[in-house]
Amino acid sequence: MNNKYDKQNIFAQIIGGKIPCDKVFETKFSLAFNDINPKAPIHVLVIPKNEYINVNDFSQNASKDEIADIFYVIYKVVEKLGIKDSGYRLLSNNGEDANQEVPHLHFHIIGGIARK
Ligand code: 5GP
Repeated sequence: MNNKYDKQNIFAQIIGGKIPCDKVFETKFSLAFNDINPKAPIHVLVIPKNEYINVNDFSQNASKDEIADIFYVIYKVVEKLGIKDSGYRLLSNNGEDANQEVPHLHFHIIGGIARK
């Protein structure tokens, strides 16, 4: 547990059920939902349900099951949304220099943009 974690951040409120989300997939450890301000036809966020600020925190403090689960969920989302084979971008902004806005680890899945 990271004592710098902000328990009031927006994704903590989504996990806690205080704010709704447009859920795409869910497991015991992870939640995937549509981004409120999509940058592409498919823009899904995948987050762990426990309190991790970023990749550094998650890598150091999450269990192997949680780490495996988030990649399982990413796979299930791209499979479900039909972009597994056509392609997608997977990105995570970490910290100030990356302009991370929400201080709860999240992976963006961005897809549905046809090749030129
Ligand atoms: P970051 O810049 O931290 O990597 O990205 C944060 C993302 O969270 C942004 O793409 C933003 O649109 C999304 N976001 C912020 N607030 C909410 C919200 O309340 N609900 C949902 N679904 N997405 C949010």
